[in-house]
Amino acid sequence: MSDHVSATAPSAPTRSTNRAFSVFAALLLFAGALSAFLVGRWLPDTEPDAKLWWTGPLLVIGFLLAEQLAINVDVRSGVAWTISFTEIPLVLGLLVAPFEIVLAAHVVAGVGTLLGRRVLDRAVYNAGLMFMEISVAFAVAELVKRFLGAQGPFWAGAFVGTIAVPLLASVLGLTALRIMGKGMRVAPSLRLVLQTLVVALLNTSAGLAGYEIADKAPWGGLLIGLVFLGITAIYLAYSGLLREQRDLEALSEVSLRVARSGRHVTGPRGATPEEDDGCGEDDDWQLIAERIREQLNANRVVLRLRTDPQAPMRTLVAGEPLPPGMRRDDPRVLREDAMLQLPGAQVRYFRIVDAGEEVSEALVRRDAQEALVVPLRGATQLLGAVEVHDRLSRWRGFGKADIQLLRTLASHLSTAVDNRRLLARLRHDAYHDPLTGLLNRPGFREAATEPMREANTSVVVRVDLTVLSTVSDALGQAWGNRMVVAAGRRLRDELGPEVPLARLEGGAFAALLLDRQAEQIQEIAERLRAALSVPYPVDRLTVEAGAVVGWATTTDCEVEEPDPDALLQRADVAVRATSDNEPLRQYAPSMGQIFLRRFQLVTQFRSALENGQISVHYQPKVALPSRQVVGAEALVRWKHPEFGRVDPDEFVPAVEATGLVDVLTDFVMDTALARVRLWIDRGLRMSIAVNLSVRTLADEEFPDRVAAALKRHDVPPELLTFELTESGVMADPERALPVLRRLHQMGVVLAVDDFGTGYSSLAYLRQLPVDEVKIDKSFVLGMGTDLGDMAVVRSIVELGHSLGLTVVAEGVEDDAARDQLVGMGCDVAQGYLISRPLSEDRFEAWLRARTVQVRGARDETVLTLVH
Ligand code: C2E
Ligand code: CA
Ligand code: CA
Repeated sequence: MSDHVSATAPSAPTRSTNRAFSVFAALLLFAGALSAFLVGRWLPDTEPDAKLWWTGPLLVIGFLLAEQLAINVDVRSGVAWTISFTEIPLVLGLLVAPFEIVLAAHVVAGVGTLLGRRVLDRAVYNAGLMFMEISVAFAVAELVKRFLGAQGPFWAGAFVGTIAVPLLASVLGLTALRIMGKGMRVAPSLRLVLQTLVVALLNTSAGLAGYEIADKAPWGGLLIGLVFLGITAIYLAYSGLLREQRDLEALSEVSLRVARSGRHVTGPRGATPEEDDGCGEDDDWQLIAERIREQLNANRVVLRLRTDPQAPMRTLVAGEPLPPGMRRDDPRVLREDAMLQLPGAQVRYFRIVDAGEEVSEALVRRDAQEALVVPLRGATQLLGAVEVHDRLSRWRGFGKADIQLLRTLASHLSTAVDNRRLLARLRHDAYHDPLTGLLNRPGFREAATEPMREANTSVVVRVDLTVLSTVSDALGQAWGNRMVVAAGRRLRDELGPEVPLARLEGGAFAALLLDRQAEQIQEIAERLRAALSVPYPVDRLTVEAGAVVGWATTTDCEVEEPDPDALLQRADVAVRATSDNEPLRQYAPSMGQIFLRRFQLVTQFRSALENGQISVHYQPKVALPSRQVVGAEALVRWKHPEFGRVDPDEFVPAVEATGLVDVLTDFVMDTALARVRLWIDRGLRMSIAVNLSVRTLADEEFPDRVAAALKRHDVPPELLTFELTESGVMADPERALPVLRRLHQMGVVLAVDDFGTGYSSLAYLRQLPVDEVKIDKSFVLGMGTDLGDMAVVRSIVELGHSLGLTVVAEGVEDDAARDQLVGMGCDVAQGYLISRPLSEDRFEAWLRARTVQVRGARDETVLTLVH
């Protein structure tokens, strides 16, 4: 017979199904015993035959052998189809032995097998089934015998009786399944019954044919014995092969699934590995657990896994749910669990019948009779464990082959999980910026594409930290990096965790905003800029930084389905179109032109110098209140053949960015010093102020070039002033300070330009070797209308003086401002009121027209402004 269905009888059902099954099993035992009693009474008594005593032990051996050779053929559906050879001893028993002896042999063999394998939990069901089977077989056989009478073959009754048994077992087994809520659909049930019948027919015929030959032919018994041995050998080899093949199938399937599960691993959606909840991934692990359960024909598989080092251990259960007490993944409970103490990587086999106290307890907690447990060990650490509980079989517990399969599976799983982690790492790295942990450019592209498609309007906001390159140049990469990390954190805080945020490169960030109003975006842009503009504490210094923000919305785009790259590129253009006055810009198509123009300016600058398109203009500086012309500021000009006059505000920053600024500074300094030389030759003592770029201050060789230029033009150093911006020095103090000190030691005058716009305090000026402050023109221009500006100017004048500095006011456009500055005691004025910046020729003309020569205090010629 085939015990295929009883094989699915659960070893540890849940409580409610357990009760139903127990009732069913008890009923079956009762029915089996009753039918055995009735059939025994009903069958005609066989004459006692001396020959019969040995049939008992022989049948026991036969039944035992038949059960030992049983093999599960198909476990795909979760129901094992077991081929066994039970029909052979049964049909022989029906032919030669009385009912009581066959029944006893069957029960003895069955109980023996169960005892041998220590699976006693289904004893009631199985005992009932055994009684039932033998009773039905004898009853059917007797009925057939009576029906046929003397006609037909003598073995007809035994034949039909034997065939009836697997049918009965199938029906009872399917009923048991249904009771346990694991019912099968009709078609597979029928197929199963049919397959069972085929095997039963084969076994029965073989048994009968063997009997005939053994009985009739001389030496027939030996012949049959040999045939039986041969078939057994082939069968054993074949079943081994079959199992191996099935195991391989399972292995490759599990490995494939694990490999595939890697696809769910952290996408670029801004999720760090800790945030990845691995939703879709759990499904895969669930399927893997399911597959292992199927393959090992177990009641339950518990897969404990930690795919991510930071995440807690996950527990997946296939088959019977774990009892409530075991459901918690409490790591402490797990650590103390006797079954999970797993040194090495071996599979351990625990059975409640022979386990120690602690393991027994662990098994009871799991509501399991037996368990295979194997740790999953990665290259460096424990990744988890697999527990396989209770083999679903009428006779057998887990065997050697199961252990071997589980070991191989576990090693595959470990490798796969290890690889998956690596893959996750790689994938994460591919989409994230290692410094800030934010997305990188490809990651942003990935993360933005889908949401952009779904949103009505999308906006890519680009935020650029403005002084970063200077900080990195001056203080080293590490400081620059710290600033970037801090900036990234500030942006994340402002935007919240949901918004895709990337670091593009350097101090450039991008964020994706969806379905926002124009005002909202403006407000967010302002917030982001403000957040990044808060000073950055670096060591004991505080680094001032600014930020510019540019953005582009999908509505700016002509194309139907704009991609993140298009928006990024436009936001980039918008950022480039920002200026000090307009640090926030939305992309406009005309900006493309500006961008192009700036690009041209940068590439054409050097040739422009050589072609004489670059010149220096001079704006006079006048002492207050004496009106003596103390000198002039040299301001660079570019007369472009195509664009006409280009403002330095436009091209100087562009030139600065390319590193050509040294060429510019040297050119202006050289031209200006040549002018001073001319004045000296005419007996005029006037100084010239040259603007320095932040970059120049980081150049250690600059002081040497200055000294050479002074020497070349034979100009005393005190007639040369360098104007440097406050933020320029601040961003770069460590490298700027030595340069400044050397210049100062040479006797060159140093002035802080645009004072008041930065953040550093006047007290800080004390530490700088400067001689002069220039109050930024915005305060001077605002002085007439804004009391605040007035107060700023006044305090700068006072504090500057208290520090012993010359105070210069630039942007003096009217008499009122000049008079106020005089009243405050400001030393020098510069502005349109006195003169606009003028070309060489016009400056000379201005000098001639607007000044008179007077004798100075040290008997030198000085020029004084006429009214
Ligand atoms: P800055 O050093 O603050 O130069 C003063 C600017 O204010 C000049 O603009 C000048 O034309 C303008 N200005 C002078 N008086 C008044 C006034 O009364 N009212 C108003 N509204 N503006 C006044 P310019 O020449 O366009 O220069 C702009 C900036 O370009 C300069 O600002 C300076 O930072 C930079 N720059 C100019 N020449 C050079 C140079 O040779 N090298 C470097 N590195 N930068 C330069
Ligand atoms: Ca200046
Ligand atoms: Ca200025």
